[in-house]
Amino acid sequence: MKYVSTRGSAPVLGFADALLAGLADDGGLYLPEFWPALPPLEELRGCSYSEIAVAVMWPFVQGEVPRDVFENIVHDSYSTFETDQVCPLVPLGRTAVGADLYVLELFHGPTLAFKDVALQLVGRLFDYVLTQRNERICILGATSGDTGSAAIDAVRDRERVDICILFPHGRVSDVQRRQMTTVAASNVHAVAVEGTFDDCQDLVKAAFGDTAFRDEVHLGAVNSINWARVMAQIVYYVVAYLDSAEDNTSDEVTFCVPTGNFGNILAGWAAKQMGLPIDRLVVASNRNDILTRFFTTGQMQIQGVVPTTSPSMDIQVSSNLERLLFEVLGRDGQAVADLMATFRADGSVSVDLDILDQLRSEFDAHSVDDATATAVIQSVYERTSLVLDPHSAVAVAVAEQLGGDPRVRVITLATAHPAKFPDAVEEALGFRPELPAHLSDLFERSERIEHAQNSLESVEALVRSHLSSSLRASDA
Ligand SMILES: *Cc1c(COP(=O)(O)O)cnc(C)c1O
Repeated sequence: MKYVSTRGSAPVLGFADALLAGLADDGGLYLPEFWPALPPLEELRGCSYSEIAVAVMWPFVQGEVPRDVFENIVHDSYSTFETDQVCPLVPLGRTAVGADLYVLELFHGPTLAFKDVALQLVGRLFDYVLTQRNERICILGATSGDTGSAAIDAVRDRERVDICILFPHGRVSDVQRRQMTTVAASNVHAVAVEGTFDDCQDLVKAAFGDTAFRDEVHLGAVNSINWARVMAQIVYYVVAYLDSAEDNTSDEVTFCVPTGNFGNILAGWAAKQMGLPIDRLVVASNRNDILTRFFTTGQMQIQGVVPTTSPSMDIQVSSNLERLLFEVLGRDGQAVADLMATFRADGSVSVDLDILDQLRSEFDAHSVDDATATAVIQSVYERTSLVLDPHSAVAVAVAEQLGGDPRVRVITLATAHPAKFPDAVEEALGFRPELPAHLSDLFERSERIEHAQNSLESVEALVRSHLSSSLRASDA
């Protein structure tokens, strides 16, 4: 499989190069040259999560990672999860029109958010490829909270990787921050930036755009601009489909996804391209509703970020939307480049009505406010004793209100463990959910925080300082 850039003018790469490159040279994101078909679904029934994962992802890595190596990497990645099912599916009653409703729990990995599903794999793939090539990389990432800890856990103490994670100072939860700042590994640097998540993401993009810097320090990406993350997420859409198929007569399923950077739901769209019978993909946003507005009007327009109880979705620019735009624009890289340039310059851009129609034939988008999410945490708890985190609650709130065919089951994705957002849960339910045993002493561990200005120079200087020390260490 070869990978092409959404902006059409970067080199076409194989899997390992696309993995290490993250962002393409022309500022675009990598996508596979074509969508391979899923293996026949009957053949996957009854298989373990890891077996399904290998079968689904194999066409994307074939030729670049030997089969037995890939099987081991996948198996190791998912053995870090707390349940053998990896991503268990839980029934949650019915939607307003009477469709079966499920929650797919994606948060049983080491850092309690769905990011682990992809990053546990990506960290190990980095390790394999870098060892093969005798190279090292410096991962630079931005986090609205959960990517950072998941990436850090995935690469901590790995010899060939340094990691610098930028997070918006004061805008991540205490649990999220501590999960990053209490890791006592010398290759890990958690960096507080004076700014928003979008500022952090812009800094990362700018650093990757500085090709001289990128080559000097061997930058690698773990944000969902990295194709391998999207790839790993395709798997659980297939697993959820299979796990819910037994009780249902309709072939089709709708997924409702709490969305920020559009990476998770894009993986659902990819699963559909590969043949998974998905009826609709529903974007669920909090009050930061750029996606809802875009899918309603065809206009993508930046507005200020509003802090909400679901901070991992408090963003205004959804990077991965570019991958979808590339597809609906007929894979015309120049058209995408022009569109993104207008968006950058004006803070706003529109797509033609025929494109909007095409998008709306597959996607719905809704946004809900904090009060609605809180009410859903309460009602779900009263009905089922399941404790939702506020991100998952946004999606359940949207899913419960969906119209459409009652025979089409609806699967909402639960993206974080409730203990990651104890304040919001306490406000709704009056108690704080407990952290799982492996994190129970999180608040006793000591923190290590670095600081950077909201400027490219400041971030580049910080990365260089760590790189030189780790190179010195490996020389010694
Ligand atoms: C990252 C994250 C999201 C948003 O996912 P995207 O792939 O950026 O759309 C939603 N919920 C939680 C808990 C997250 O960590």
